[in-house]
Amino acid sequence: MPHLTLTTGERVTAGKLVCVGRNYADHAREMGAEAPADPILFLKPASALVPPGGVIVLPKGIGAVHHEVELCVLVGATLKNATPEQALRAVKGYAVGLDMTARDLQAKAKKEGLPWTLAKGIDTFAPMGHFVPAAEVRDPAALELELKVNGETRQRASTKEMIHGVASLLAYTSRYMTLEAGDVIMTGTPAGVGPVKTGDRLVATATGLPTLEVTVRDA
Ligand code: MG
Repeated sequence: MPHLTLTTGERVTAGKLVCVGRNYADHAREMGAEAPADPILFLKPASALVPPGGVIVLPKGIGAVHHEVELCVLVGATLKNATPEQALRAVKGYAVGLDMTARDLQAKAKKEGLPWTLAKGIDTFAPMGHFVPAAEVRDPAALELELKVNGETRQRASTKEMIHGVASLLAYTSRYMTLEAGDVIMTGTPAGVGPVKTGDRLVATATGLPTLEVTVRDA
């Protein structure tokens, strides 16, 4: 089973990865869409996880694959119909992650009204850094997120720009899907998404969280 690691050395079996779409207004705009009133949720399988230092593998003929840097929230206790306060108390840790997206496949699925599952769920499409215990993160809405590709900044934003914050995302999700220890919420990406290619080196950072570095290669 795929694992997640905390900076304490603790290892947690990964559950479901709940991803949030269009949670930054500037990214919704660059995708030609409106920011939604309610969070847009989709799932990524835990089998897509890659640890720090790992490799993103691009399948043959997949078309454009985009980076999306995101704040990731590790759930530490069962949440069902949780209030935002209960949800925040159940957070076990925070990490920086990448919601890698086969953009051409996603665009085709959107156009045909079909699910995005394949575009988001390919093996190695969920690189995730080590998690810092929640108690060490004073305010998850005050982190500077940044992604550099080959040393060049591609995405940079504060998590305060998220439309739906961590507590309300967990509370909202738990109204419909029980959240369990080991589940992760990927909270959405800011503007600046773009394609990666073989040989690229991606370095994702967020204030106070361990750096996530991965490379890209063709299958
Ligand atoms: Mg995303």
